[in-house]
Amino acid sequence: FSFAEPKNEPVLNYAPGSAERKALQAAIAEAKSQQRDIPMYINNQEVRSGEKMEIRPPHETAHLLGHFHVGTETHVKDAIKAALEAREAWAATSWEHRANVFLKAAELLAGKYRWKMNAATMLGQSKNAYQAEIDSACELIDFLRFNVHYLTEIYKQQPLSSPGVHNRLEYRPLEGFVLAITPFNFTAIGGNLPTAPAMCGNVVVWKPANTQVYSASVFMEILIEAGLPAGVINLVYPPGAVIGDVSMAHPDFAGVHFTGSTGVFQTIWKTIGTNLPTYKSFPRIVGETGGKDFVFVHPTAQVDAVVAGLARGAFEYQGQKCSAASRAYLPSNIAAEIKDKLIAELKTMKMGIVDDFTNFINAVIDERSFDKLAKYIDNVANSNGKAKIITGGKYDKSKGWYIEPTIIETNDPSYVTMCEELFGPVLTIYTYEADKWEETLTVVDQTSPYALTGAIFSQDRHTIETMTKKLVNAAGNFYINDKPTGAVVGQQPFGGARASGTNDKAGSALNLYRWLSARTIKETQ
Ligand code: GLU
Repeated sequence: FSFAEPKNEPVLNYAPGSAERKALQAAIAEAKSQQRDIPMYINNQEVRSGEKMEIRPPHETAHLLGHFHVGTETHVKDAIKAALEAREAWAATSWEHRANVFLKAAELLAGKYRWKMNAATMLGQSKNAYQAEIDSACELIDFLRFNVHYLTEIYKQQPLSSPGVHNRLEYRPLEGFVLAITPFNFTAIGGNLPTAPAMCGNVVVWKPANTQVYSASVFMEILIEAGLPAGVINLVYPPGAVIGDVSMAHPDFAGVHFTGSTGVFQTIWKTIGTNLPTYKSFPRIVGETGGKDFVFVHPTAQVDAVVAGLARGAFEYQGQKCSAASRAYLPSNIAAEIKDKLIAELKTMKMGIVDDFTNFINAVIDERSFDKLAKYIDNVANSNGKAKIITGGKYDKSKGWYIEPTIIETNDPSYVTMCEELFGPVLTIYTYEADKWEETLTVVDQTSPYALTGAIFSQDRHTIETMTKKLVNAAGNFYINDKPTGAVVGQQPFGGARASGTNDKAGSALNLYRWLSARTIKETQ
């Protein structure tokens, strides 16, 4: 059997007066009119610990959206137990049946639950309608549909047989449970990290960031409605250290699917290394971590394309994408024109609550992020002339975690904001001598430990070739004449190497292979 060829879910534009805008506005109003009491889900059962944490929109901190129940060691143990009990039956379930659970979830998300899910992402994670649409609707739907397609293709791949000898590969799931740890910035990543292993027949314990719990719980409800059997994915909200300590000390720990910071991922590797003798198998470690993504502009670049790429690449979703443009290298011949046009563009970006669909910029995720960004901005004043703020630079937490879109200009290519990941609406610009473009590529390659995304802009075919070769290891997703964000499932498999992760491209067969442990069977007749 086979499934229909997947297509990318069309992006709705929420134009004023459109039916989709009205439906989304109604879902936002509905979500704000009640206070949610969000449980964990173990064995598809709602579990409430009684210890609650508040959920407030980052852009409107006076409003209480509800609470979620914080998990303890006991909840993690219960989740692992539920997963392991579900394992055998789920692994034995036919691929057709398993796949249909996720295709049904995609269907529910594309239709009935689209507004509820987007409203949760907008309110809980402070995304504007368009950013929510491309994330919690389209990208998540695409992950589900395309992964079903890729896995179907993988299952078909079989070794050679000969007369009298029949060989086959049995694509078993891993022997144990998989831990999924997901970040706040993409609801789609939240959905993909537990479902990709689960699709392969694995059972999962899923721990989202506290700031993602709201949208994660809506997705869990969808999975249950779609027919996901009890125990296959268990959603819990304990503190990070508790989930790590308990699950990674378990003998049946079979792997981790992680997106988050490089530091936490390093800790995960160390913990797994220390616990190695306790495990039945070597765990699979798959992670996407930080980025310090570059935009390198060649002297032949088209100015307007660069301006659009920087404005969107650096400031969409307040720069809180691992892929966001955060350091730009401009050639001296066109740097002034690019800066002027970019500053003018930033002045048109309205900042405020997500309910007002004209706001392009909303708030950063929480107080910790706000304080960190404010500090980087303040420190520019102490840079001894190395850096200055050329636009933005204001911040205000009276109503929400608002940081104005900011551009720092530096004359030092290794200035701190050219090297460290800030994860916010702050872009740093460095101007190089136009005739030194080739030497500057070495600086681009060597300045940061990360290698997630990067973009080059040039109108010259020959230099595009040179730059693509010289920056071969500088980015896992490399964009030519486009912004470095917005990878589309099925079109640009996503991930990077160096300090940016294991580069097991999300939304591709490369990722799914990691959740399979094949058995080779030779039968002689
Ligand atoms: N896939 C997203 C993009 O291309 C970024 C994912 C992330 O921030 O982790 O923009």
